[in-house]
Amino acid sequence: MDYDVKRHLREVRDSLPEGVRLVAISKFHPADYIEAAYAEGQRIFGESHEQELARKYEALPKDICWHFIGHLQTNKVKYIAPYISMVESVDSLKLLKEINKQAARCGRVIDVLLELHIAEEATKYGLTLDACRSLLADGEWRGLANVRICGLMMMASFVDDERQLRDEFTKAADFFDEVKQAYFPSDDAFCERSWGMSHDYHIAVECRSTMVRVGTTIFGPRVY
Ligand SMILES: *Cc1c(COP(=O)(O)O)cnc(C)c1O
Repeated sequence: MDYDVKRHLREVRDSLPEGVRLVAISKFHPADYIEAAYAEGQRIFGESHEQELARKYEALPKDICWHFIGHLQTNKVKYIAPYISMVESVDSLKLLKEINKQAARCGRVIDVLLELHIAEEATKYGLTLDACRSLLADGEWRGLANVRICGLMMMASFVDDERQLRDEFTKAADFFDEVKQAYFPSDDAFCERSWGMSHDYHIAVECRSTMVRVGTTIFGPRVY
């Protein structure tokens, strides 16, 4: 391994305020990189492809909490339902219902986040704020006993402009408050704000992130 995963992981972890959890985004990195981070105590890892995740799940220690962070097709949910800790990228009621169905088949309750689309890039997935409001107002999610909505996830625009990043994170944080108050006021499980990646997590934690998803800074550049 020519990249010092352990040192970079420690540096990221040491830079996080108390109460902010680190999801180490290991997509496209080999299992021995994950093992190095695991040896440093890291237990939450994020992946974005179902097949790659399945291979790693089989090969790696079973006390790892795997988060799914990519676009998830409904026909792939059944493959990850037996073991996934959290699906961070729920962007439709259809997907939420499928996760619920597959979780029920496994006798599990799966934690999920609703993914917001706030960034200006047209290619990003996620619910617009209005689409998210409609999903929640519709109420069908209340009957889904095998999913637990734990909060919101978003990716900011891929820009260096600190003010724009701050605006987008703040918009997400304000929206979190709105949704919390309207739908989850007495639900302690609804508490996660997953934002911040390698290039912007320092700003994200200043904008009330509870969970950062950092890949490149820990594992080095991805080889696609
Ligand atoms: C790849 C990815 C990350 C990590 O990005 P880095 O820039 O490598 O830190 C975080 N979140 C999501 C949704 C991703 O797809």
